[in-house]
Amino acid sequence: MAHDPGHIELHDPETDPLATYVLEPDDVRPLLRRVVSSPGAGTTTSHAPFTGSPIAAIPLSTPDDVARAAKNARAAQRLWAARPLRDRTAVLSRVHDLVLERQSDVLDLIQLESGKARVSAFEEVCDIALVARHYASRAGRYLAPRRVPGLLPGLTSVRVLRHPVGVVGIVAPWNFPLTLTLGDVLPALVAGNAVLLRPDPQTSLTSLWAAELLEEAGLPDGLLQVVVGDGPTVGAAVVQHVDHVSFTGSTRTGRVVAAQAGERLVPATLELGGKNPMYVAEDVDVEVAAEGAVRACFVGAGQVCVSIERIYVHEDVADEFTAAFVRRTREVRLGSGLDYRSDMGSLTSAAQLATVVEHVEDAIGHGATVLAGGVHRTDLGPWFYEPTILTDVPAEARLGREETFGPVVSLYRVASDDEAVAAMNDSDLGLNASIWTADTRRGAAIAARVRAGTVNVNEGYAATWGSVAAPQGGVGASGIGSRHGREGLWETTRVQTVAVQRGAHGVLGGPGVGLHRLFDLGTDTWPRVYTEVLRTMKRLRLP
Ligand code: NAD
Repeated sequence: MAHDPGHIELHDPETDPLATYVLEPDDVRPLLRRVVSSPGAGTTTSHAPFTGSPIAAIPLSTPDDVARAAKNARAAQRLWAARPLRDRTAVLSRVHDLVLERQSDVLDLIQLESGKARVSAFEEVCDIALVARHYASRAGRYLAPRRVPGLLPGLTSVRVLRHPVGVVGIVAPWNFPLTLTLGDVLPALVAGNAVLLRPDPQTSLTSLWAAELLEEAGLPDGLLQVVVGDGPTVGAAVVQHVDHVSFTGSTRTGRVVAAQAGERLVPATLELGGKNPMYVAEDVDVEVAAEGAVRACFVGAGQVCVSIERIYVHEDVADEFTAAFVRRTREVRLGSGLDYRSDMGSLTSAAQLATVVEHVEDAIGHGATVLAGGVHRTDLGPWFYEPTILTDVPAEARLGREETFGPVVSLYRVASDDEAVAAMNDSDLGLNASIWTADTRRGAAIAARVRAGTVNVNEGYAATWGSVAAPQGGVGASGIGSRHGREGLWETTRVQTVAVQRGAHGVLGGPGVGLHRLFDLGTDTWPRVYTEVLRTMKRLRLP
């Protein structure tokens, strides 16, 4: 059929060959109007991974549009920051309710744009509800002025304040269209900032839907500006106009963005790639660990920054675990239905498929063995690839060290916890890790030795990611800074120290006791007096 932009038909060959899902042009047009662009703007066409068919022609922003969006955001931010915090948290609280209420709309959109299974899309809805609720209830505490000990106890009163930075720029990838946009927009807004958001062009409709949701939740005009365009032009323009950059993407692009932000001396939070390991200890129930591994490796077709790509299994259970893992992997249901009947969807793009195929072929060329999968499923859609397990992957294979970002995992045997920890830490990347053991105390102790921003014991990734009160971020080449929790909120604030020196103008009609008095003691006396003061303070165990 000829495709009207914004009209797509999706067939679900697995469940019903005649099933048709349609995204009506009228649903899409109001969303497209939210892009900051100029009359006569060019367009970019996104394609549905399930079919390869065009979804919508989305207007493109130019660097001038980005500058205009930033200016408008800046004007709106001043008023927003002056509003009481409860007005800001009220918006988040309503977002929580609305995203749960409207979930079926956004689940469809996320699936259409990313090609993921509905169950993975639902994780994004849950994430937004968790983040919105958390910051709605905790932002006040996180942003409250903090009293700290002053220079002269009793005389110097010090408070540390947190102010919004101004305009936060968010440059997001395509793999979590809702989580990695709205999930970062919410804390930035509640801190009193405006946001300039550049979603990936492949998944911008979901972001535009989120902008609509925020408006309905009561967000004043102008505070969220959405621009669309490629990374090197529009993404880079965002970096040029904001006071803080939140970038999520590959380590390679993260270095470019960090350099651009560094040039402007604006801070950047960088959430980058991973080559995340899992360790399966010898005391596990192998069926439980295998089930956990399937989800941890193949969620979102492995296009999840925190998903697992390397598994180290204790040799005592290696055969048993491998058999269970392979069996369960072969049972994973692939499909393109906009329902909960499939476990795994498609890869999101031809480029992503090409990387997966290249990594698997390169590993096989280096002597690796395929235990499950390794098949491009053109019968299901253009970019479906079976969940794949490899073993005997040598160190020279690209798959051994580089992030694949697909449904591919390699298995290795280890003889001890020490060997497992050494192997897990043998990477420049350090985003997420997972440990499976029946002894949770042992698991926690191993976890603390792993060089990764998050470590899950008896879970793949959801326990840390979903515990939104705790920071989530990588170490080493996996990034700088974090999202979630107090730390995540603080990323988009600047600190200010205000010290009030008491008694400068006299105490009870007597002489002043301000710092100037100390300096007034004369060049000989004040060093002697202050030396005694310092000694006394230590004796009194003052902080
Ligand atoms: P990518 O780095 O190629 O692109 C990410 C985004 O950056 C894209 O939208 C791209 O258009 C944009 N971009 C490209 N050049 C740019 C530039 N010069 N300035 C500004 N923006 C630019 O990554 P990708 O392949 O699209 O995304 C997958 C990667 O993201 C994986 O490495 C994955 O691990 C990582 N990721 C990390 C997290 C995390 O929280 N740590 C979460 C999701 C994805």
